[in-house]
Amino acid sequence: MLKAFCPSMWIKSIHEIRSENLIESGIRGVILDLDNTLIHWGFKLQSETVTEELASARSWICSLTSAGLKVCIVSNNAPARVKALADIMGVPALAKAGKPRRRAFLKALDLMCTGTADTICIGDQVFTDVFGANRIGLRTILVAPLTKREFIGTRILRIFEFLVLCLLRQRGWIKLSSFR
Ligand SMILES: [Mg+2]
Repeated sequence: MLKAFCPSMWIKSIHEIRSENLIESGIRGVILDLDNTLIHWGFKLQSETVTEELASARSWICSLTSAGLKVCIVSNNAPARVKALADIMGVPALAKAGKPRRRAFLKALDLMCTGTADTICIGDQVFTDVFGANRIGLRTILVAPLTKREFIGTRILRIFEFLVLCLLRQRGWIKLSSFR
């Protein structure tokens, strides 16, 4: 039961992940969470301004896509915001994904023309990103959330998430590690 919540890897930030690391592990497709993984929760798109955070996220995604990796943003957030940000990043996105339900994960595989064996899911939440991706047998990378400011429901879930991560660490199944 606990295994269902266990990520393949637990790191601090997406920026530690290099395209070479993924390609060497046989990865061709990346399902990427948006809020608190790629950009901070509550991030507002101000007209045409590209902030430093946005530029850095875009350049990281670009480093993956230019290496030949497919990327698809899968977010539970509202379509208008998700689409606007995905357009800036230059990758497709699925909004209102209903994670941890399987549907959006499977749709992302379809969009990227990848399979469960060569796709990884990267996100900041155990109960949506990791659990959802584990349900269809994907590899997963859990990253630390970019900010503590979150939707109230998420803040409550974080308490249970903390307990699950404690249990996973106790069993020696995960430890905070690094690609560097
Ligand atoms: Mg998130």
